[in-house]
Amino acid sequence: MDKKKRIVIALGGNALGNTLPEQMKAVKITSKAIVDLIEEGCEVVVAHGNGPQVGMVNNAMIALTHEDPQQPNTPLSVCVAMSQAYIGYDLQNALREELLNRGITDIPVATMITQVRVDPDDPAFENPSKPIGRFMTKEQADMMAEKYDYIMKEDAGRGYRRVVASPKPQEIVEIGTIRTMVNSGDLVIACGGGGIPVTRQGNHLKGASAVIDKDFASCLMAKELDADILIILTAVEKAAINYGKPNEKWLGDITVDEAKQYIDEGHFAPGSMLPKVQAAVDFAESKPGRQALITLLEKAKDGILGKTGTKIQL
Ligand code: ADP
Ligand code: MG
Repeated sequence: MDKKKRIVIALGGNALGNTLPEQMKAVKITSKAIVDLIEEGCEVVVAHGNGPQVGMVNNAMIALTHEDPQQPNTPLSVCVAMSQAYIGYDLQNALREELLNRGITDIPVATMITQVRVDPDDPAFENPSKPIGRFMTKEQADMMAEKYDYIMKEDAGRGYRRVVASPKPQEIVEIGTIRTMVNSGDLVIACGGGGIPVTRQGNHLKGASAVIDKDFASCLMAKELDADILIILTAVEKAAINYGKPNEKWLGDITVDEAKQYIDEGHFAPGSMLPKVQAAVDFAESKPGRQALITLLEKAKDGILGKTGTKIQL
């Protein structure tokens, strides 16, 4: 029998929804797509984003400081940790249920609270770029900027969102544990929300005020776990060049060199599609045979069967 293909899946915002009830519902659909891949004979590791959720947790924690003056502000790193646990809880429950519904009883599901080391001198700290929280109108955005000193930016034609620093992941602190669990056949959810950003201070890991892009963190995890495929599941079936323009063209199978050229030509929006294509390129060129796929959650299975999605390889 062929060796099982190891796949790292990066789940985007649409796989999780924007509110607690939405997430409960969304993870059921997401779990079906993931277990489909397991039934296809793949070994799956799950990573996910947390843009809306970390924004929600952050707002809730700000509200707490208004209610109780004893409560200091909650660092963004702690908000990421809370989002990992809350999303992991829903996801691991839904995955367990979907596996059992299909008679698969030998795959334990677990979420690993994951810290990811970043470089304190990363230029990203000087240039916040990662959108978090909900979409707002220009007027709402101006109000948030005024009231909380947030930096607000327009996000790919869809409205305004708060942006925070998004440094590149350097090291997954818990990678050894994640590898052990994956190697023993567990279905692991790790690097949620890109991982909790930390910097090293001697033996101490200090939380950083940032949100790492899950596209880059899942790429690093895929390399560290020697995965065969990195699948980035998002709200579009393919990446496009001339996106949203009359001459828009959806991309199918492309080479790393073609993808790099499109990046240079500015076809992918920073903070949304650009990090996906960059992560895909980084993974695909890291070792011959490695593939990266960008597609819709609902099309994950068609994607690994080569029927759709933007596939990037050397
Ligand atoms: P996720 O939560 O999955 O990370 P994002 O919103 O960050 O999703 O990124 C996906 C979005 O990127 C798409 O829904 C689309 O609106 C936007 N986008 C920007 N540029 C492109 C492009 N060139 N091709 C396809 N989608 C693009
Ligand atoms: Mg994103």
